[in-house]
Amino acid sequence: MQGAVLYGPRDVRFEERDDPKIIKPTDAVIRIAAACVCGSDLWPYRGIQPTAQPTPMGHEYCGTVQELGSAVKSIKRGQFVIGSFFASDNTCLNCQIGYQSSCQHRELVGGAQAPLLRVSLADGTLVATPDVPSEELVPSLLTLSDVMGTGWFAADAANVKPGSTVAVVGDGAVGLLGVLSAKQMGAERIIAMSRHRSRQKLACDFGATDIVTERGDEGVARIKELTNGIGADSVLECVGTQESMMQAISSTRPGGHVGYVGVPHRVELDGEKLFFSHVHLHGGPAPVRRFLPELVDLVWKRKINPGKVFDLSLPLGQVADAYRAMDERRAIKVLLHP
Ligand SMILES: [Zn+2]
Repeated sequence: MQGAVLYGPRDVRFEERDDPKIIKPTDAVIRIAAACVCGSDLWPYRGIQPTAQPTPMGHEYCGTVQELGSAVKSIKRGQFVIGSFFASDNTCLNCQIGYQSSCQHRELVGGAQAPLLRVSLADGTLVATPDVPSEELVPSLLTLSDVMGTGWFAADAANVKPGSTVAVVGDGAVGLLGVLSAKQMGAERIIAMSRHRSRQKLACDFGATDIVTERGDEGVARIKELTNGIGADSVLECVGTQESMMQAISSTRPGGHVGYVGVPHRVELDGEKLFFSHVHLHGGPAPVRRFLPELVDLVWKRKINPGKVFDLSLPLGQVADAYRAMDERRAIKVLLHP
């Protein structure tokens, strides 16, 4: 088969790779229905995170089970499945309390920008849909693998409740789906921070009630103006830079919560500022597996349509164009069809 391989900064190639095979009896091999490029793929693509050796790319996936290891019990061949970017056994103590992305046996899933993918710990990792989905549901189901699950975790970690006032830092796909998640959880007011018209529009479609275009101290001042001078109850940090993290903390009211899901790059927190901010901080790699059953149900019943974040769709063979479009922010998120 042919799949995406990153060689170094801005060098993604679509090239011949070995077909994935069952290696351990707990593995599954999936035929990918659709793949996509993640905002976090842009860190190594831009060279901010070094690439030591040619690396198969892609960690968001859904598709049909093609092959199973002998020890897999709950997943059947032919089922349509979705899993998280972290494979997890879903049985260890960390999994049992809902932190499958900290599973004691977790393994990173990689190489999903390809027609076939091996997923380890298939029983614990994969969640089957009630039936084989119609074509039009596939993009939304794909988002559950990471970007929607991560936006949902940001809102969950930020303690969004019915009636909450929420601010979202970051207008990438995760931030936008954080808006959708906050809306679904009953937030009354959702302030999206964005400067881009098409992203502002999607944020509003997903339930944003206000848009703030300012950043940094000005952005914080604007959030405070909109929240009786104190800041939002819940702030979703969906970028991962020093500026975005400080913007999130400073936009939260005393006693409020920050849910941070942007992969941090050179973020350092000032202990004294943190001390006097009085905010709760919770975040990390989203335990997507915890939310999958509920999110599959919401998509299946057409209560949410997170697939709307895909504003460009390309054949898998044009994966390099997909990276370029996202790097240049011409696309919010690119769907790749095999
Ligand atoms: Zn586990």
